[in-house]
Amino acid sequence: MSLPGKLLPEALKTLGKDRATVSYPKNKRTLPDRFRGAVEFDPDPCTGCGMCERHCAADAIVVGTDDDGNVTWEYDVAKCMFCGQCEESCPTDAIVMGKDFELADSDRESFEESYTFER
Ligand code: SF4
Ligand code: SF4
Repeated sequence: MSLPGKLLPEALKTLGKDRATVSYPKNKRTLPDRFRGAVEFDPDPCTGCGMCERHCAADAIVVGTDDDGNVTWEYDVAKCMFCGQCEESCPTDAIVMGKDFELADSDRESFEESYTFER
C-alpha cells in the first residue's frame, strides 16, 4: 500500500474528534493534582533539622548555619529530580512540591534559591 493510502484512513478516523494537542505556551493543560514541579519552601515552620538535605538523592538542598548562627537553606532546581522526597521527609511541612515546571533560563544563578533566617 502506498503512503497516502495508509494515511488517509488514519486521517479520516480523527474527523469530528477533539484535538489531542494544545497550542502551548498560549494554551496550557490543567496539571494533575499530584504533579510535582519545583520545590516551594516556607522558612517560617522550618526548624533547620536538615532532614530534607539528608534525604535528597540529588544534593539539591543544603541546610547549614552561617557565622551568626542563623539557619541557611539552599535549593538548586537545576539538580532537582522532582521526586518529592524532601516534602515527604520534612516534619514541619516547610516544603511542598509546587506546580512550576517552566524553569528554563540562560543564567545558572537563577536556578539557585537561598534563605537565611533565625531559629
Ligand atoms: S524533590 Fe527530590 S531531588 Fe528535588 S530537592 Fe526534593 S528530594 Fe531533592
Ligand atoms: S525544610 Fe523541613 S526537613 Fe528541611 S531543614 Fe527545614 S524543617 Fe527540616
